[in-house]
Amino acid sequence: MYEGPIQDLIDELAKLPGLGPKGAQRIAFHLLSVENKEIDRLISALGHVRDDVTFCVECGNVAANKLCRICADARRDATKICVVEEPKDVQAIERTKEFTGRYHVLGGALDPLNGVGPDQLRIRELLRRLADQDDGVDVSEIIVATDPNTEGEATATYLVRMLRDFPGLSVTRLASGLPMGGDLEFADELTLGRALSGRRVLS
Ligand SMILES: [Zn+2]
Repeated sequence: MYEGPIQDLIDELAKLPGLGPKGAQRIAFHLLSVENKEIDRLISALGHVRDDVTFCVECGNVAANKLCRICADARRDATKICVVEEPKDVQAIERTKEFTGRYHVLGGALDPLNGVGPDQLRIRELLRRLADQDDGVDVSEIIVATDPNTEGEATATYLVRMLRDFPGLSVTRLASGLPMGGDLEFADELTLGRALSGRRVLS
């Protein structure tokens, strides 16, 4: 245990995912050694994240405006929606440059043991998007790109059941080949791109 502010900082950093006490300590002492203006930039970035990040009203991705960059782009194919767990998965799929459609961010995956049921995810919003044909575009394909782990698979199964009754809609899942138990964001672009182009129909 250190004294005063440095320990407070270590305690706060240790709460961040993937850091742990040792990593937190290393970052805290690094910050102690950097110039003031670097600290100011970090404080300002944290403030902007707290105050200025909003979520796209359409897809749930992080956005700087009402609509995210992708939903606001008329060139994106509105007939295909790729369903992912988190905004970071949108970035992972964008990096493959294989997908030209739109996204829907669920905000997690089904995990009943930890209190995450369908109502905690943006599934109702997805169904509303499909039912709402105001823009004159029929969605023809839903690509389920949840993580290749137990929760992701359970979520995919649930979505197939919910989407089965939409006429003319095909529901596809990323091809196998992604490391099982992993996180979509950790798959390299090539593997993820292949999984996307080799997707299979589920319903
Ligand atoms: Zn959006």
